Amino acid sequence: IRELYPEDVFHYAEKLTDGELEVLQHVRQIIENDIRPVVTDHWERGKFPFEAFYKLKEAGIMNSPKLFEGRDEKWKASEMYNAFLYYELARFDASIATFYTVHGGLGYNTILIGGSEEQKQEFATKVRNFEWQTCFALTEPDHGSDIAGGLATTAERKGDKWILNGEKRWIGGADTADIVPVFARDVEDGKIKCFIVRKGTPGYNAVPIPNKISLRMVQNGHITLENVEVPEADRLPNINGFRSVNEIFIHTRADVAHIANGVTAGAFVAALRNTSEREQFDRKLAGFQLVQEKLARMQSNATAALGYSVRIAELMENGEYEMFNSSLAKMHNSLRMRETVALAREVTGGNGITLESDVARFFADAEAIYTYEGTHEINALLVGREITGIGAFV
Ligand code: FAD
Repeated sequence: IRELYPEDVFHYAEKLTDGELEVLQHVRQIIENDIRPVVTDHWERGKFPFEAFYKLKEAGIMNSPKLFEGRDEKWKASEMYNAFLYYELARFDASIATFYTVHGGLGYNTILIGGSEEQKQEFATKVRNFEWQTCFALTEPDHGSDIAGGLATTAERKGDKWILNGEKRWIGGADTADIVPVFARDVEDGKIKCFIVRKGTPGYNAVPIPNKISLRMVQNGHITLENVEVPEADRLPNINGFRSVNEIFIHTRADVAHIANGVTAGAFVAALRNTSEREQFDRKLAGFQLVQEKLARMQSNATAALGYSVRIAELMENGEYEMFNSSLAKMHNSLRMRETVALAREVTGGNGITLESDVARFFADAEAIYTYEGTHEINALLVGREITGIGAFV
């Protein structure tokens, strides 16, 4: 374990089971053999490396029996494994981890939390096998941070069908997804409900947002819904109001805390490697006091962020977590990530702005993570409300 994560100086990874560790080692092999060789080219071209990514199927990252040994829960592996899976993916690349969180985090949790037993059997089984790609369509062009109150996409019931109208923006993987959970407001009772829109449904259109400077490999879709018909059988019955959406966010905000933590570690490891190799003034960069102070700060950020992730995983596993925990972790880990990627880029000098150094990718990609899944400010306001008892959103 210590070879897999040398930066984990408090040895948190020892909390993983042997089976979980085996899966993560397999993931590492696939990353190094199949994904790393194609990542720079795809980042530059703004394309997602689907073929290489789907090699992760071979490791059974969502459904390997090794993850379920001794567990009663059949749909989800342990929270500790979940934290380390995101850590492993993001430590290598933020777009790969983000694509996975949209599919295996946001989309999958929406089905598990919102779906009936039959829907879970149909949708969740195919999602965890990577037979079907899914995503999560909540944000709209005019409503981001204020989506809870502002959500404007409508759903109107007509017999055993629903008619959806509206627009969604920033939806990761929307242009390629097989099933898209779309959140819309019921025109009758005003409550937010969730509908599974299947690929090819007339009136559904998703166009990737062009010219992004962050997470270039992930396609974020602008969706238009024009009289899209969804059968009542494809409405997720347990999503009723924004409270249910928050139940999903409790999980997925923690997932993003794990991603931020992985990016922090990845940037630190790359910075340590780069400064240990390059010499100036006849000495390794890593041997200068000013550089060591920065490396030490990165190490401490990585250690603190991993501590947050691991404790969140433990609380979740025990059913003791709340939105406050997830918001605090997302806020903390994203702040530490943003500082660390800047330090890593700084100590890598001019090479730090080319994709070859690794740190340039982390530096650019961190900006999107800082914003999605609740911006820094929104998570700070959630934490602020909890500690003061005063809501300060408006
Ligand atoms: P705005 O809400 O317009 O905020 C702009 C700024 O104002 C931010 O700094 C914000 O913190 C600040 N602000 C807003 N309100 C307040 C306030 N009350 N007090 C103080 N400051 C405030 N959404 C999905 O549904 N599915 C996805 O798959 C998805 N993927 C994404 C991927 C990427 C790369 C990005 C960038 C976004 C993604 N999103 C997705 C949307 C994301 O959740 C939103 O971008 C986010 O919620 C912020 O909304 P906004 O961009 O509209 O910013």
